[in-house]
Amino acid sequence: MPNTRRSIDSFGPGVVGLNPMFARPGEATELARFSIPDDESLPETAYQIVHDEVALDGNARLNLATFVGTWMDSHAEKLFAETFDKNLIDKDEYQATDVIETRCRTILADLWHAPEPRNAVGTSTIGSSEACMLGGLALKRRWQHARRSAGQSTDRPNLVMSSAVQVCWKKFCNYWDVEARTVPISEERRVLDGHDLRSYVDENTIGVVALLGVTYTGMYEPVEQIATALDDIQAATGWDIPIHVDGATGAFIAPFIQPDLVWDFRIGRVASINASGHKYGLVYPGLGWIVWRDQAALPDDLRFRVAYLGGDTPTVGLSFTRPGSHVLLQYYLFLRLGRDGFRRVQQATRDVAQYLSREIAAMPQFELWSDGSDIPVLTWHLRKGPSWNWNLYHLSDRLRMKGWKVPTYPMPEDLTDLTVQRIVVRNGLSRDLAGVFIADLHAEVAFLESLTVPITTLGQRPGFHH
Ligand SMILES: *Cc1c(COP(=O)(O)O)cnc(C)c1O
Repeated sequence: MPNTRRSIDSFGPGVVGLNPMFARPGEATELARFSIPDDESLPETAYQIVHDEVALDGNARLNLATFVGTWMDSHAEKLFAETFDKNLIDKDEYQATDVIETRCRTILADLWHAPEPRNAVGTSTIGSSEACMLGGLALKRRWQHARRSAGQSTDRPNLVMSSAVQVCWKKFCNYWDVEARTVPISEERRVLDGHDLRSYVDENTIGVVALLGVTYTGMYEPVEQIATALDDIQAATGWDIPIHVDGATGAFIAPFIQPDLVWDFRIGRVASINASGHKYGLVYPGLGWIVWRDQAALPDDLRFRVAYLGGDTPTVGLSFTRPGSHVLLQYYLFLRLGRDGFRRVQQATRDVAQYLSREIAAMPQFELWSDGSDIPVLTWHLRKGPSWNWNLYHLSDRLRMKGWKVPTYPMPEDLTDLTVQRIVVRNGLSRDLAGVFIADLHAEVAFLESLTVPITTLGQRPGFHH
């Protein structure tokens, strides 16, 4: 796919020209674009400029690439409008919001089977990325404490994870000087499953990341099996290696539609779990969660107390000021949907994913890689064998012409020869709309199949896939 991103110069010269319809007498008709304009504009004018410019953004409804929620009901919007001025960190001023945040993470600790939900610790974050950084930091700090008290070196920590981790784990390792040890995925082992784990871990391993919902494919890693492998390693070596479950997507899916799957705090080795409130938590962008199993899992020296906003509450987090409204929206949804409502929403979403899987598997050009039976995400690739006059990047382009955004990307290291296409089904992609997509897919594949010579692959590059 050619690079479709606009450059910052693509809106023309360094000034914003005002449509004469909107210009008021005496008002400038050109405003500097890359420096702050010299003069004021009327609020109507400034509003119109920003409003018109963002109208060029894509149509979120047809974006099948992202996990992030883009729709909430009108009551949620009303609540948002009433509360977007609340600063979550100001726990003294906004005590009620603070109490609701605690309630939400206690609800999550309970949903994820913490032994004593009210004794679990955790926090909301700006997203799973921040939550993963905190989870990783707690693993690192616990390992450092244990090593130091045994008089051992803390020079070379490592973290073990699948090669198909979301980029936040590579960031964590890079930003906090931890070696990332990646276990490659392959045709036979599509997820990290504990196989051969012994050759990746050692006394410097701060933890293992298990993905409940692999970003690349939507598949669950078998957390219980990984824990058993670590039990065997502990029995043989004495190394007690904890697990952090990156449940960015699946931690809001599994408790509702796969309640018998054991992946959470029911497993003693699971120290912490994160999830994105703004993915299958169904809230607008800007909300993540992390919960530690108990007080001991989050070292005390990672908690801070600040007195300068009044009051004195311990906090953990990488950021400080954050909107409180998103947390209130999460609580609204817990009340509004309840366990059964969440189950029905997530089940409906997965039904659509499985419908799409069946339709795509039935097309002779494609082979499914994952079918949406874990989180509602499916991936497929071109059937191997025939030589095709087109590839999946061309198909992404064709679908884009009908408004659909369906990313094409190579699998991670050691499997980069395999290029896949992925659909993330979210609440809002109805069965009807999915039917329209399948009709469009058939039409575009038929067009590509009608070509008698190969199309150029010049300028193709992977689409967004995180
Ligand atoms: C999306 C995702 C993240 C990052 O989450 P944000 O909420 O976007 O910061 C981390 N891990 C996994 C598995 C994800 O799917």
